[in-house]
Amino acid sequence: MKNPFEKMPTVLTADEIIDKAFRRAEKAASALTPKGGPRAKARQREELRIRTISNVIRDNLRKLLDRTPGVSELPPFYRELVDTLVDRDQFHRSLAHVNWAIKTIRNLEQRYVEKIRYSRDPDEMSRLRRQFYGRVADVIRDIADDLEYLNQARNVLKDLPVVDLNLPTVVIAGHPNVGKSTLLRVLTNARPEVASYPFTTKGINVGQFEEHYLKYQVIDTPGLLDRPLSERNEVERQAILALKHLGKVIVYIFDPSEYCGYPIEEQTHLFEEIYAEFGEFPFIVVLNKVDIADEEKIKAVEEFVRAKGLEPLRISALNGEGLDELKERVIELVKPMVEEQARRIMERELRKYRDEL
Ligand code: GDP
Repeated sequence: MKNPFEKMPTVLTADEIIDKAFRRAEKAASALTPKGGPRAKARQREELRIRTISNVIRDNLRKLLDRTPGVSELPPFYRELVDTLVDRDQFHRSLAHVNWAIKTIRNLEQRYVEKIRYSRDPDEMSRLRRQFYGRVADVIRDIADDLEYLNQARNVLKDLPVVDLNLPTVVIAGHPNVGKSTLLRVLTNARPEVASYPFTTKGINVGQFEEHYLKYQVIDTPGLLDRPLSERNEVERQAILALKHLGKVIVYIFDPSEYCGYPIEEQTHLFEEIYAEFGEFPFIVVLNKVDIADEEKIKAVEEFVRAKGLEPLRISALNGEGLDELKERVIELVKPMVEEQARRIMERELRKYRDEL
């Protein structure tokens, strides 16, 4: 899936919209070669100005509405992230005001064109047209704040992460420097893409791997699942919890060598927090850097993990040890979901095929 706000256009300010429309109206009027007597000519010119203004403004606003998805219709992952970034009520209210402006301008256009058609006096026609200009400018200024808000929202929302919501996803967690990004790289055999993510300057790393024609997605979340949730503010927490809509399996990494700079007690503490928060997901716990870690420390961590009812796995993201087994475990856990997904796609295709027959 793409960023749902990818197509949202830059939102012009009220003044920019008015300027643009008025300029286009003048241009259209001066390019026109009206026919008939002075009255008919004036009528054609004023009508053209009015129609042009209305069209330019309505097209612009309509495009904004058409290309901006409603937050409530988004998949839960994006919905939750958007809620951390913009006020959903305000966002929808602003869109509703834009819709109101489109309708109001359309009504004004019809009313004023009609008045001009009934008028017999070119001066009056020009007065009516100016009156129309004034009314339209008022309508646009009425929604000036909404336009500004939508533009601010757009600037934030266009940076939402682009992840494939249809792929079963493995989320990697653990302290900084335990080897998360190294593991992602070796698991996915590809250069992971960096997707921006609210409240982390580093973004998230997204990679994929394929096994028996089925695709899996792996996400590393620098700055997100690498320090205690209890230290986070409300909004950061929500950005983290949005990950629940992506992750199907959590791979938690310990670094028993402690080269990461976090002693084992701190690592077990972070694990407890993340395990409690994401408890509904299957966890795979790996002990990384076994190539350089002390056996004693490895055993201590293993004991801690087993006491949680989990079977830890020794790996070295650097020299490849244990990686095949890790992949197997991931696939074992995720496969039922992938197969279900594949079945749905196949059924959909079959249905399409039958409908075409
Ligand atoms: P992240 O912050 O959790 O993403 O950690 P990185 O993947 O950046 O790894 C931090 C450091 O640990 C890097 O210098 C890696 O080369 C090193 N590292 C990662 N995995 C291993 C491993 O299995 N063995 C050893 N010896 N070093 C590793």
